[in-house]
Amino acid sequence: MIIQRVINSVFNSCSYIVSEANRSWLVDCGDVDQILPLVIGTLCGVLLTHAHFDHIYGLNALLSRYPSVLVYTCRAGLEGLLSDKLNFSRYYGDPIVLDRPGNVRIMGDGEAVNLVDGLQGRAVYTPGHSPDCVTWIIGDAVFTGDSYIPGLKTVTNIPHSDKALAAQSEAVVKRLAEHRTIYPGHASAMLTL
Ligand SMILES: [Zn+2]
Repeated sequence: MIIQRVINSVFNSCSYIVSEANRSWLVDCGDVDQILPLVIGTLCGVLLTHAHFDHIYGLNALLSRYPSVLVYTCRAGLEGLLSDKLNFSRYYGDPIVLDRPGNVRIMGDGEAVNLVDGLQGRAVYTPGHSPDCVTWIIGDAVFTGDSYIPGLKTVTNIPHSDKALAAQSEAVVKRLAEHRTIYPGHASAMLTL
């Protein structure tokens, strides 16, 4: 498995390209122009850590180029994708609503999606930073989004976040990460929306 990271122009959010057996999956989708050259083989889908706009703003451009790519999130994530108020893009001058909601697949807590033969992406609900936070386990990698960024306090001073829930989720993520490598949702302490 090859994991490549893109540090996006918006808030230093991170998108990841996970490749195996000539197929690639994204974790979150920011700067499409940076991401696409790194895709190896067929681009199959996007696993979302949550639907704050700095993690999803490339989706419409991506899906217009690759209309068969599926987007995996939880039900609250779909709500965020469909509301520029919930995903906060409305307040940052560039309202984003997903153009292709039919491409979204809802994952239950603990449910897994087959990425390639022998490799799954497992969704673990880790709400708190936002209600729709999902941590993804892929092999020895754990993609924590903004539920846990090592060295940073989880952001819970924004609408719809829940400090107590975030603390519980952080404990869950840390346990999941015990024998795995963490790939967080931001590359620096600048802003972690
Ligand atoms: Zn966020």
